[in-house]
Amino acid sequence: MIDKLPTLLQLLKNLQQVPYLASKNIYRVASHFLLMDSEKAEQFCKIILEAKRKLTQCVICFSWRENDRDCLFCSAVKRDQRTVCVVETWQELLAIEKTGGYNGVFHVLGGVISPLEGVDAQDLTIQQLVHRVQSGVTEIILALNQTPEGEATSAYIASKLKGTSVTLSCLARGLPVGSSLEAMDRLTVYKALSERRPF
Ligand SMILES: [Zn+2]
Repeated sequence: MIDKLPTLLQLLKNLQQVPYLASKNIYRVASHFLLMDSEKAEQFCKIILEAKRKLTQCVICFSWRENDRDCLFCSAVKRDQRTVCVVETWQELLAIEKTGGYNGVFHVLGGVISPLEGVDAQDLTIQQLVHRVQSGVTEIILALNQTPEGEATSAYIASKLKGTSVTLSCLARGLPVGSSLEAMDRLTVYKALSERRPF
């Protein structure tokens, strides 16, 4: 039946390509867009295109930056450029920034190694992190989520940095297992970071 509605089929197929969107929600999301008033839908598309045009990933830390401005972190003279906090995504970076207690810089990996989801080390920015360490970095804080994939990724990074003089640390113990930084309250993240321990 649905092949007689080619436009709807096309919309559904495109929504299917959005990661993190559960397949059972695709019909609901499609309805949401179809029922949206045209002006709002156009505005929505415009914002996506504008974001794509005006935002790029910093080539050093891989967080987002406005094209016409320097990276908020890598170009900040007041931040300690020798301490690099490694996070999975931009969301965890924000969780750490929100504590107001971190003055180093970041490295956004773009995810974690997950063979089940087809993500391997080459899909992440691990190689770039290893290169970055050679430019005066003294401490790497592995602030990945406390999941099996997060821990395996931390171990992989540590193996890649073996033999360098950089100090490796990780978040304090006592964080709920399986929890993600962005879901934790500000104080918990702050404590986890300030009471960090050697990896
Ligand atoms: Zn940067």
